[in-house]
Amino acid sequence: MKPYQAYFLDLDGTMYKGTDRIEGAAEFVNHLIEKELPFMFLTNNSSKNAQQVAEKLQSLDIQAKQEQIFTTSMATAEYLSSEKPGAKIFAIGEEGLLNALAEENLQLVEEDADYVIIGLDREVNYEKLAKACLNVRSGAELISTNGDIAIPTERGMLPGNGAITSVISVSTNVEPTFIGKPESTIMDQALKKMGTTKEKVLMVGDNYHTDILAGIHAGLDTLMVETGVSTFEDIRNQDEQPTYKAKNLIEWLQTHCQDNERN
Ligand SMILES: [Mg+2]
Repeated sequence: MKPYQAYFLDLDGTMYKGTDRIEGAAEFVNHLIEKELPFMFLTNNSSKNAQQVAEKLQSLDIQAKQEQIFTTSMATAEYLSSEKPGAKIFAIGEEGLLNALAEENLQLVEEDADYVIIGLDREVNYEKLAKACLNVRSGAELISTNGDIAIPTERGMLPGNGAITSVISVSTNVEPTFIGKPESTIMDQALKKMGTTKEKVLMVGDNYHTDILAGIHAGLDTLMVETGVSTFEDIRNQDEQPTYKAKNLIEWLQTHCQDNERN
């Protein structure tokens, strides 16, 4: 294995599943800390803010600091702020998105928005969708934190942010711009935040269509673990394969990290 100097880690399906920690997750993070290898958690979950995500990881005995969390909401707010500082936003989303927009001094409005931003909102209703559509029809640009069609929960697969976005997109016939994985926007921002380059980083995740393709699109090497959404069988016929595959992070530590230390 190439000696990577930094790591990007997915959360759901890689570190935890619902309220359960995934085997090897804490050990892997401890390994990175011990080796003084910088790492950052990249998540398409737009509903929580960085502090809430860090607290969840800490409650599972995974050593994470708030500044190591980068959510699609943060990536979206940073993107908007660089495109148009102080822009007027009509947003559908939860605390994570609303906090991130406020932190970048973006202005929330109900009409005449420059941008319509869609993040996962578990209290979305017809009125919010109607306002989003009206703003898009009046010329607002449609941006979505991420295109995940379905999200795994304790109840099963529920509608994801891509599904909510599709209502506005279908109704207005306007294609959204997505920010989160597998797009390279979030990856480029994360590289910049970490002050590193793509050759030096390994992207670790469970979902081929988000984590692994995000890495591939951004030019990073990737490690797919089979502890979440995608299985090795699922991806057998994909043209672009992850750089590495491991059943879980325990197997990865045993087969790759110890060898590397002996070298
Ligand atoms: Mg995942």
